[in-house]
Amino acid sequence: MSSQIVTLIFAAALLASTLLKLWLTTRQIRHVAQHRAQVPPAFAAHVSLAAHQKAADYTLAKGRLQMLMQVLSAAVLVGWTLMGGLEWLNQSLYAAIGREAWGGYAYPIALLLAFNLIGSLIDLPFELYSTFVLEARFGFNRTDWKTFLTDQIKGLVLLLVLGIPLIWALLALMRGSGPQWWIWTWALWFGFSLSMMLIYPLVIAPLFNKFTPLTDGALKDRVEALFARAGFAAKGLFVMDAGRRSAHGNAYFTGLGAAKRVVLFDTLLERLDPPEVEAVLAHELGHFKLRHVPKRLALMAFLSLAGFALLGWLAQQPAFYLGLGVRPNLLGDNEALALLLFGMTLPVFSILLTPLMAQGSRKHEFEADAYACQHSEGRALASALLKLHEDNASTLTPDPLVARWTYSHPPAAERLPAILAQARP
Ligand SMILES: [Zn+2]
Repeated sequence: MSSQIVTLIFAAALLASTLLKLWLTTRQIRHVAQHRAQVPPAFAAHVSLAAHQKAADYTLAKGRLQMLMQVLSAAVLVGWTLMGGLEWLNQSLYAAIGREAWGGYAYPIALLLAFNLIGSLIDLPFELYSTFVLEARFGFNRTDWKTFLTDQIKGLVLLLVLGIPLIWALLALMRGSGPQWWIWTWALWFGFSLSMMLIYPLVIAPLFNKFTPLTDGALKDRVEALFARAGFAAKGLFVMDAGRRSAHGNAYFTGLGAAKRVVLFDTLLERLDPPEVEAVLAHELGHFKLRHVPKRLALMAFLSLAGFALLGWLAQQPAFYLGLGVRPNLLGDNEALALLLFGMTLPVFSILLTPLMAQGSRKHEFEADAYACQHSEGRALASALLKLHEDNASTLTPDPLVARWTYSHPPAAERLPAILAQARP
């Protein structure tokens, strides 16, 4: 494999994937703008024109920002690779730290952290704009500067506390476990992901939000009855103070084993009546009962093993580094470079998996809806979903191809009829 071929494949794939993303976003913008004037007939009885147009305007504004970010992230990727950004950072750190410090771990850890921090700094203006301008314009933002800054600092501390030991262990395995190191690093990475599913809900999420058990009496009885019917420990239900940061409403199922829980945003609770909350919870319990989390995990395990096998091969090819604009260190120590280059270039190719993953996810959503229709009121689930769409200004008229390619949840125009067809009369 020559380095010119690596450069060529990478450049062609980056161009193709960026054009594909831009094309999809343009389609979405055009489709939503074309349907802005009128609420789709199927929703006319439930959705006001004002709400429909707010959703259209919000989708358009997000789409334009997305296109800007798609172009910028392609440019940043070229800057890191072909234009020599990573080469410069790598040579500077290698010269400044040397290969001996911290038993040879200081340089690669510094490289990975520095890359990460620079990436966060590049993203920061977009995050600020999105939170304080775009979300604020549509009345969603409730984050103040203090919360925003505290979140950033907590994120940074977490990156250091969790990142340094993880990187250290990964590098040690890459260096010390022989030619099959990619299997061992995969096992470590997957074990880390699994333990995060235990640690995240119990330790990390509470650093950012308050989680309290449901206290509302009537609703509590209703929910406990549902949980008893479904055979789920009711102590696993929490209300999260999401309204501190944003007005968007949601509910989700998370965690594994003893850490598994259903989380309801307080913003959702404000807007739904008790039968609707029950139906939304039944949907989340459906994900649990139908074992969607282990199924997703098994798929991720398989895909990531394939990814690590590929990394194991690429890391040995000088052309992989040279073709992406980096001179490998002659004395070895290229593990961090291999991880960075692999992590940067993988999304350019894995975009082809997006439609498959999205379709799998939508299938699970339909299944969880069917479960909710069996164990609670389908009509309440349908009206809860409409309220969720309205409160989040989600468009009811997405471009069909965009929905098929990227949507993790089925569009309302498909989802609601499926629910109502199964709802008990
Ligand atoms: Zn769901």
